[in-house]
Amino acid sequence: MSAVTVTDHRLALTRLLCGSFYFRGLRSNPDIHPPASLLCRKCGGALETPGHVFLQCRDVQTVAARDVLKESLMQDFGMTLRASVSSADAHLLLQELIFDLRTVAPVARFIYRVVRAWRFFGRRLPTMVSELAPDTDDDIDFWDFETATEDGSDLELGEMDMEIDI
Ligand SMILES: [Zn+2]
Repeated sequence: MSAVTVTDHRLALTRLLCGSFYFRGLRSNPDIHPPASLLCRKCGGALETPGHVFLQCRDVQTVAARDVLKESLMQDFGMTLRASVSSADAHLLLQELIFDLRTVAPVARFIYRVVRAWRFFGRRLPTMVSELAPDTDDDIDFWDFETATEDGSDLELGEMDMEIDI
């Protein structure tokens, strides 16, 4: 983690690894939800999982961030970001990229950009909550995610916004 020097990027990566971001497709009890409510909120084309969101989703901002990552991996490491045919593939590839010391920094920057585009940051702000009202009641738990900091302690409501540049 010390390879990621930008605080916001490190925070985004830490939150992802702690499971602090909410993904519809990762509900603990998927059978009790209608299948459509587990689909990606951006494209609706697949289960909303980290693998899909980061490496497969065709959402415009996500694709743009992914293109920047592709370019950086190619330029700095001569690596080609391989296409992931399945969500499981994408999940594995995401893990490989995160746990590779060479690629963790550009990947953390990419994750930061994507979660920001998804408004995974700053959503505990009451003003944000009203601006970004969930599209269904079912989505209400989207706002109730647990925040986690690098030292594992929880942030108080509002505190998070102090350090995050939106
Ligand atoms: Zn999608």
